[in-house]
Amino acid sequence: MAWEQGRPAAAEFHRVPAPLVPVFDFVNTLDARSFGGRSTSDDLPDWLGEHTDDEAALAVRLRTALRGLTEANRDGTAARPAEFDALGAELPLKARVDGLAPIDTGLRGRLEELLASVVIATADGSWARMKTCGAPDCQWVFYDHSKPRNARWCSTAGCGNRMKTRAYRARG
Ligand SMILES: [Zn+2]
Repeated sequence: MAWEQGRPAAAEFHRVPAPLVPVFDFVNTLDARSFGGRSTSDDLPDWLGEHTDDEAALAVRLRTALRGLTEANRDGTAARPAEFDALGAELPLKARVDGLAPIDTGLRGRLEELLASVVIATADGSWARMKTCGAPDCQWVFYDHSKPRNARWCSTAGCGNRMKTRAYRARG
């Protein structure tokens, strides 16, 4: 499966902390990168494997909500989509002394695990570094390693340069 071969390399490239790698892979199943003649793709069906329509709908809602948060992380807005309360009720977690665990098994359990990772990463501050690239033709979710936590691009040399060149040309 292309998804399984390509994604671990991306997580490694962005030096994503281990607990957030599954979340990184999940939110980036939506690959909206269209620069340089790329075609955008949605690898969610590969990620899901065997699934029911309900599970697929739940996965899409979770991904959309998480991507809303990574967008807010870049902008520094404290947006907390109301959708999360609804998702929290549908993807319940079990509290343990050493963290949070999924209640269900199978695909629902995998989605609950992702949610648990985000809750824990929010508590330890690492989630604030998960951001959507600010280039409209990229939108790749990346991990911001910069000290001031103010990175806007998944790659300074790539998207950062391209956007600066574009802004420069627009100014004429
Ligand atoms: Zn980018």
